[in-house]
Amino acid sequence: MCVGAFLIYSFTYYSKMKKIFQEYLRRNNYFSFDLKAILFDMDGVLYDSMPAHAKSWLQTMEEFGIKNTTLEEYYLHEGRTGSSTISLIFNRELNREATPEEIQKIYERKTELFFQYNTENTIPDAREILEMTKSFGLLPVLVTGSGQPSLLNKLDNNFPNIFTPETMVTAFDVKIGKPHPEPFLMGLEKGGNLKPNQAIAIENAPLGTESAHKAGIFVIAVNTGPLPDKVLKDAGADVVLSSMTELREIFSEVIECVEEIRN
Ligand code: CA
Repeated sequence: MCVGAFLIYSFTYYSKMKKIFQEYLRRNNYFSFDLKAILFDMDGVLYDSMPAHAKSWLQTMEEFGIKNTTLEEYYLHEGRTGSSTISLIFNRELNREATPEEIQKIYERKTELFFQYNTENTIPDAREILEMTKSFGLLPVLVTGSGQPSLLNKLDNNFPNIFTPETMVTAFDVKIGKPHPEPFLMGLEKGGNLKPNQAIAIENAPLGTESAHKAGIFVIAVNTGPLPDKVLKDAGADVVLSSMTELREIFSEVIECVEEIRN
């Protein structure tokens, strides 16, 4: 039986989790899980980089004369490619498309500020979860819309021997980006041409959650930012947890239990 440490929370908690997994299987017409990989988003899941992203976007837009955006908005846009975020704000605030030159200048400035503000702090327990993933014989795959070299190049320092270029989907791979399912479909491919029931996605943002959900993957959202849980639920999260620490506490049981659950 895999009830194990779920009982730290209570039998009711275990029953609730089991029901959530069964609902996923039924909805997607699967008999069971056949877990091979865990797909990890990067910003807000592995790195505590979202405050610096939001601050850099806000300041960049102000410098370019667009003063009506808010910090919270950038948490809602989280996961979009830079050009998509710029295009959306230009259309709303200026009623026109941004030119390729504007997109390039704005994204360069935002990248510069991000490099200045970002602490490179990792999210507590992210490394432990990645190591547990490997120890269970599962493949950790990165699925990010980020093209920030300042973080991508540091991955192997902060999370040694976890990802290789073959197991990373980044801004350099995707054409459309989140919330489209494309990045997570590429993640399944890089995980070894997997079916959606052979993976679980870990996301923190509504658009990333939507992307993984539309790709047909079970999504555990960890709400490490300022948005209400409901936003993640509405985007398609199967489970919403408060932190990666909460995920670490139940991670072994989740991995062991999903294999036993039948539709
Ligand atoms: Ca994220």
